[in-house]
Amino acid sequence: MPYQDDFEKRRRERRRRARRRKKRIRAAILLVALIGVIALGVFAISTIAKNRSESDDITSDTDDNTISETMLPEPTQAPPAQTSLNIPPASEEADLIEIIADSNQIKRCYLTFDDGPTDNITPQILDVLRRYNIKATFFEVGSMIEANPDMARRVYEEGHLIANHSAGHNYDKVYASTEDFINEINNCFDTIRGVMDGEDPFPLFRFPGGSYNAGDHAEMKQECKNVLAQNGYYYCDWNCLNGDAEGRTKDAQGLYEYFVNTSEGYNNLIVLMHDAATKQATADALPSIIDYLINQGYTFHRLDDIDYNPTGIDASGDTSSFDDESSDEDVSPGSVSASGASNSGSSGSSGGSSNGGTTNGGSSSSSSGTTSGGSSNGSANSSLGTTTRTSVNGNSTVTTNSSSNN
Ligand SMILES: [Zn+2]
Repeated sequence: MPYQDDFEKRRRERRRRARRRKKRIRAAILLVALIGVIALGVFAISTIAKNRSESDDITSDTDDNTISETMLPEPTQAPPAQTSLNIPPASEEADLIEIIADSNQIKRCYLTFDDGPTDNITPQILDVLRRYNIKATFFEVGSMIEANPDMARRVYEEGHLIANHSAGHNYDKVYASTEDFINEINNCFDTIRGVMDGEDPFPLFRFPGGSYNAGDHAEMKQECKNVLAQNGYYYCDWNCLNGDAEGRTKDAQGLYEYFVNTSEGYNNLIVLMHDAATKQATADALPSIIDYLINQGYTFHRLDDIDYNPTGIDASGDTSSFDDESSDEDVSPGSVSASGASNSGSSGSSGGSSNGGTTNGGSSSSSSGTTSGGSSNGSANSSLGTTTRTSVNGNSTVTTNSSSNN
């Protein structure tokens, strides 16, 4: 019996152990499940948190982008020299000399150099301009830029305006048809844009040979003016010149005298010169021409720097939309209008007026030309001290005004 009891005891003991083992296994399974659930929970929470922080990063990135995007374009799209440019669109008035004539600005000089850049003359001209701290306009030819890219680059980097003077300066090609014409302009535009690191150049063209309605290609040139306006392009001739491409070859003194003669009597000056390879005398004459103009009270500007402030007195009456700043000049509107109109007339053998006198120039100068000459003469004298040249110039202002506008 004790053997049986013993057997019974061991059996109970085995059952108890088996039960305990089952319990432990269950507890272990439960524990593993619990750990699993906790682990899953922690993983889920951390993933959500991570996602949230990543999406925060993205939104803050885009916030940054929108800030930098709204801040960046202004300086890149509007270079400093063009911010002051508040002139009529080319579709309304493509002739920049007309716009300057209507501007009411006083005694501004626009030095312009055509047909370059060249590796021998352009650097000399740039050196002179730098010495005087003067900015000018270079009407460059596409093929010349391609031949002298470093020089074009220097013109740009030293703050001058590069404008369009066709791709190849071959009259028969440029004026073969309006399609050829616009192709020449677009090709040159692209070449200039390359010089300017991809920045769009100011849309300004100078007709090779001038836009004048005379001589070869005269008819096509007039058609081309419409093409320019339709494409948002301004064009600009000149109203005085040093004669470096006229008649007999002149030395520096000859160019200086030619310039003085052709510039007398104008309020604003658009000066034609050339930085082509053979124009050594142009570089030599430049300092004396600049000294003369400084002495006359002129300031120097690029052609995309026009202080456009029409008075609204003009017969057209549609100028008020551009009248953003009140005129602070102490010159009467009539006199300013008359002196401005003197620009529309041109002088010099190749500088014959393109459109003849404009309606504006013709009427206002005949009525108020005398007062204009008087007042501008007076201010020039008072600021510069009276010199014989100034008074001669002042007197001739009146006569030149009335004659050149007819
Ligand atoms: Zn030319």
